[in-house]
Amino acid sequence: EEVRRRHIRLHMEGALTARDKVGVQDFVLLDAHTSESAFLDNLRKRFRENLIYTYIGTLLVSVNPYQELGIYTLSQMELYQGVNFFELPPHVYAIADNAYRMMCSELTNHLILISGESGAGKTEASKKILQYFAMTCPMTDSLEIARDRLLLSNPVLEAFGNAKTLRNDNSSRFGKYMDIQFDFKGIPIGGHIIGYLIEKSRVVYQNHGERNFHIFYQLLEGGEEQLLAYLGLERDPQLYRYLAQAHGANESSMNDRNDWKTVSNAFAVIDFTEDDLENLFGIIASILHLGNVCFRENHQGCATIPVINEIKWIAKLLGVQPSALLEALTHRKIEAQTEEVICPLTLENSVYARDAMAKAVYGRTFTWLVNKINSSLVNKIWETSAWEFTKKTVIGLLDIYGFEVFDKNGFEQFCINYCNEKLQQLLIERTLKAEQAEYEMEGIEWEPIQYFNNKIICDLVEERHKGIISILDEECIRPGPASDLSFLEKLEEKVGKHAHFQTRKLAGPKGRKRIGWMEFRLFHYAGEVTYCTKGFLEKNSDLLYRHLKEVLCRSRNGILKECFLAAELENRRRSPTVGTQFKTSLSSLLEILISKEPSYIRCIKPNERKEPSKFDDFLIRHQIKYLGLMEHLRVRRAGFAYRRKYEHFLQRYKSLCPDTWPHWRGPPAEGVERLIKYIGYKPEEYKLGRTKIFIRFPRTLFATEDAFEF
Ligand code: ATP
Ligand code: MG
Repeated sequence: EEVRRRHIRLHMEGALTARDKVGVQDFVLLDAHTSESAFLDNLRKRFRENLIYTYIGTLLVSVNPYQELGIYTLSQMELYQGVNFFELPPHVYAIADNAYRMMCSELTNHLILISGESGAGKTEASKKILQYFAMTCPMTDSLEIARDRLLLSNPVLEAFGNAKTLRNDNSSRFGKYMDIQFDFKGIPIGGHIIGYLIEKSRVVYQNHGERNFHIFYQLLEGGEEQLLAYLGLERDPQLYRYLAQAHGANESSMNDRNDWKTVSNAFAVIDFTEDDLENLFGIIASILHLGNVCFRENHQGCATIPVINEIKWIAKLLGVQPSALLEALTHRKIEAQTEEVICPLTLENSVYARDAMAKAVYGRTFTWLVNKINSSLVNKIWETSAWEFTKKTVIGLLDIYGFEVFDKNGFEQFCINYCNEKLQQLLIERTLKAEQAEYEMEGIEWEPIQYFNNKIICDLVEERHKGIISILDEECIRPGPASDLSFLEKLEEKVGKHAHFQTRKLAGPKGRKRIGWMEFRLFHYAGEVTYCTKGFLEKNSDLLYRHLKEVLCRSRNGILKECFLAAELENRRRSPTVGTQFKTSLSSLLEILISKEPSYIRCIKPNERKEPSKFDDFLIRHQIKYLGLMEHLRVRRAGFAYRRKYEHFLQRYKSLCPDTWPHWRGPPAEGVERLIKYIGYKPEEYKLGRTKIFIRFPRTLFATEDAFEF
């Protein structure tokens, strides 16, 4: 303990004496009315010294170093265990530890919300947190397996849900919320994962230089000869249309063979049977075969499949009738009044049907995978014993896509940015409310600060009957010719006057940047984004022809059997659209989140080139803006920059006053009063609450820290 304390002091002193060089470790300590430039300077100073973490109060700002810094060692973990939040340099471990301690002492549920754009380091941060809990929490032998499964669920989900993009070699293409469950003693006993909106379109199409999901390459590169022979696969990814078209595999920086080993090992630990794996890889392989199915047009303009080699493989691996599959890929069943009519598809429609099948199969298999992992994370002892009645608490981890603005923004960006609007709501609610509640509880007066409430934008997107999603849904089910253009016209008609919406037609003289004729613009809380409506209808309806669905529902592949239930065929009602499903899942996510005590990690990407030591001012300034960091700082500052429980304050600074040193025997509040009188705090500098001292200006605390140092 003494060694540790000394260590802490050294850190503390280092941090203080080197302040000018390395910046301040908490933005709150910068001068009041900090400008964005000063904010940026501080971040840059620290980044130059490889100090990637900085606080804003209890929020952690993290800048991706793009290099190994040696700050995630076991001894670092031990250092942060049980220590006071501000006593050590900022670290993701401090956030994790703080949430854990609070959970244990107050038996409350916590949430660590990680956000930032693609490549900013969200997934890495969430992995570090998970590792921290795995290594530092108390553990019993019988629970080790649960811990290992929780840790190993990551490589499996990443193999199926991550891909190389232009922005990130290991980009998560789904949103992830994970609960880690603890018993009343703080022992981790299980977990649960929810996945959000996996980017299925990647299975059939990737932008130039990007790749499909990792698992395809891992299987081809690492799979045993025997397995590949069984699946009818060759090693070379270039032989498969779904992998070859984007040329992303050539310049691969990935180590697919090693990753395959990691994933195979993880499968073994997470309870996957031989059968599961055979079925799973059967599905992955059949998607590759499916991509290679070629269509030709006959004289009647209908699609045919001249070579049926792939069809045979798919039929074998998915356990379906080859002839039925062939027919379903080239024909469509139309229900006339009394009978079903089978009519041939055009070439274009067949290609659509093929790709829709690949996407549907992959998307549902991913969901199956998440469910499978979840059932392995359910703690059997826990579920069956009397423990059931004791209190269990959770720490939730949210690693979800950040706000996205590209040159071309489509339906995916629309959903992702909508998700960020909702999370902003949470921040507003929780941060402001928590702040206000604390002042109230402590009996302190304060003046609320102005902030932009983005509820108006959430409503614009999601309001029933009136919002953009509803309008889109209506266009998707409307009989008669509907198109991405008619959707845009409907938008103009119904929300054209909204202050946060614009199209070319309605931009008026204020419309600065040009809006294309198929585009609309939303003024998000984080900035404006122009969306192209091309593909909105198709992606929102996500239609799988009934004929194909029937074939899949009759599959003998054990996984597909669970994914495509016959009941779906009987249910003639339309299933909800992608937009509506996403809206529903977001609103239940918000419910999960809002009931927990939040901590925030805001990740920043330093440059577009995935390079270490490059600090791109322009790019980072932009992120500071849309991550709402200045706003957060202002909120944090509006009342009091710092607050500390009397005991803690006294413990730290008691040596500054002869009355309180070495021991103060009276009530801590009184001790603090004596102490601050002795060191000369002015009345406007602080307020005394019921249990805490509130310090208005950072410099006050700074001076105290400096005095403390000498
Ligand atoms: P996406 O939204 O695309 O999933 P992300 O925010 O999850 O992006 P990560 O995958 O966590 O981004 O990080 C991208 C890459 O940056 C990592 O693969 C790793 O190489 C590097 N990186 C991120 N954080 C750290 C860190 N703390 N230390 C070292 N390298 C890091
Ligand atoms: Mg990620």
